[in-house]
Amino acid sequence: MTSSSSSTAAVDSGHKIVEPAGAPVAGVFKAIPSLPSVSTDQDGEAPSSRRSSEHDASPDMTNGVDANGVAGTAAGLTPVYKNVIFDFDSTVITGESLEMMLADLLNADPKGKEKMTQIEEWTKKGMNGECSFKEGLTARLNIAAPRFADVQIFHERYCPSALSAGMKELVDDLQASGCTVYILSGGFTDVILPFGAYLNVPKERVFAVEIDWDPVTGAFVALNEANGFVESKLEGASRIKGKFEGTETLIVGDGYTDFKLYEQGITTDFVAYVEHAEREKVVNAAKANGRGCARSTAELRERVFKQ
Ligand SMILES: [Mg+2]
Repeated sequence: MTSSSSSTAAVDSGHKIVEPAGAPVAGVFKAIPSLPSVSTDQDGEAPSSRRSSEHDASPDMTNGVDANGVAGTAAGLTPVYKNVIFDFDSTVITGESLEMMLADLLNADPKGKEKMTQIEEWTKKGMNGECSFKEGLTARLNIAAPRFADVQIFHERYCPSALSAGMKELVDDLQASGCTVYILSGGFTDVILPFGAYLNVPKERVFAVEIDWDPVTGAFVALNEANGFVESKLEGASRIKGKFEGTETLIVGDGYTDFKLYEQGITTDFVAYVEHAEREKVVNAAKANGRGCARSTAELRERVFKQ
């Protein structure tokens, strides 16, 4: 399985050279010590249910996909869309990258529990609409105080093992069949780029929240507002919507922010990806307006390739 192999390639993160090294930690998401959840999507909405990261294989697969969700070849596959945009957290990967990174960071911190309490207070403020996404995220990062090295540690642990089962094969087949794949996320560009590189999605097609790191110490300095993604995924996507105009474009994600891109006409279709997190509001929106839900990459294949 792709999700259990390791990455050894040096990856240009856009800011620094990141070199994932060493074997990924076995068990991945399940191995994280049980600190409370600290993140939500950009709507401030926690999922109504979160699934285990167990990669259950569906017995009902099509398009030459075997029982483990692995595709054979792109030959004969005809894409439905010119572009497919993937959300990152709980879609491309099995969990929420910020939550995973901060949990690891705070578990190693003697004041981790105290800091987690403070972070949870900011999370609640965000969920109650008492602060903006940017304000809440900045506050949480200031408390957790990540350094660029923590991003590199994250890659060593989780890239590529945290990828959703079959995601590598799906993205490979989409691109081999002529579809252009993008990743748009409310997560951090620096966190996503090595996964993008592993999936052969070039950094020019990865759009997410940029962080300014101290060039000497590698400490978190501030969120960079330049591309609009720290305001919201919708704002960021609005600024690059010309890439998708006039073409059949699908967005796949678990968040209501992902649905908003479709609702606002930036994409022509929406599929709710509910393998890892399922939000009632998103599922209902996808059923009423989009192309429904996919519970696995195998089910997603049935939406993105002509049958
Ligand atoms: Mg997501």
